[in-house]
Amino acid sequence: AIPLVVAINTSLAARNGMLIRDRIAMEEARNLDAIIFDKTGTLTEGEHGVVDMATVDGVNENDALALAAAVESDSEHMIARAIGEAATGRELTPPDASDFEAIKGRGVRANIDASGFTGGPSNSSESGDEVYVGGPNLLTQLDNEVPDHLQRFADEAGQNAQTVVYLVREGELIAAFAMADVIRDESFRVVESLHELGIQVAMLTGDSQDVATAVADELGIDTVFSEVLPGDKDKKVQELQDQGKLVGMVGDGVNDAPALTRADVGIAIGSGTDIAVQSADVILVQNNPMDVVRLVKLSKASYRKMQ
Ligand code: ADP
Ligand code: MG
Repeated sequence: AIPLVVAINTSLAARNGMLIRDRIAMEEARNLDAIIFDKTGTLTEGEHGVVDMATVDGVNENDALALAAAVESDSEHMIARAIGEAATGRELTPPDASDFEAIKGRGVRANIDASGFTGGPSNSSESGDEVYVGGPNLLTQLDNEVPDHLQRFADEAGQNAQTVVYLVREGELIAAFAMADVIRDESFRVVESLHELGIQVAMLTGDSQDVATAVADELGIDTVFSEVLPGDKDKKVQELQDQGKLVGMVGDGVNDAPALTRADVGIAIGSGTDIAVQSADVILVQNNPMDVVRLVKLSKASYRKMQ
């Protein structure tokens, strides 16, 4: 539900699928110095498929994938979906899992009855093994070191812009999964058009530095903020504002809400989550990042008419 929609140029804005919740912000869009985009699902399709995996010695690939799928079975994250689909694709049956926990911006954990799986500890407790799946941010929190050959696997995946998540069982890192997302066709033109308008383009993501840099290089993005925890996203908006810039933020997730609020112009894209929509000044309903460019141009055109 959108409590208040004010359109400055109703027919034009509506025709372009823009719902304007804050008229002042809409007027400010013409003066934006920088626009920050959330990466996943905004500049990329946000559909990850598992393309490769690696395990430590003594751990069977199918066992690792089934364990990971069990931990992810309660999560709605696209990483969870990809791992679930990969397990289904291999006709694996994930073991029972309980006590699920989502660790924001890092990963997920659960207790799993993994007796009978390769590579397990010998003295597994009755409540099951504690198993985690997550990215580099999770390994930092758990204080896990990455074995050499998994590090090489992760480095190579990162250079190919693939997202890597790790499987940690009873404190031991036992597998890594590489997932591929694809850049949206429209994103290239978005960056180009914003540059033509003299606007700095930045990207903000919880994903690893490798992946972020690969995507940014391909798109010609000026500024990259990677491995940012959900609670810190708004600080990156502030960082650019502290340089005296008028900053727009484009995002779709719950994670993005504080950053959308902090931005001078907060733009929610796609159906978005309710909270993202409620934190935004403008909602782009068509889930097309090119509408960000149209929004700036519409703001410029409307302002000229009002003078
Ligand atoms: P983004 O900022 O790119 O939208 P998120 O904040 O949702 O990403 O997640 C940031 C990182 O946290 C992911 O790249 C991944 O490493 C890890 N992560 C989050 N949720 C999960 C999950 N369900 N399974 C594994 N890893 C996850
Ligand atoms: Mg996101």
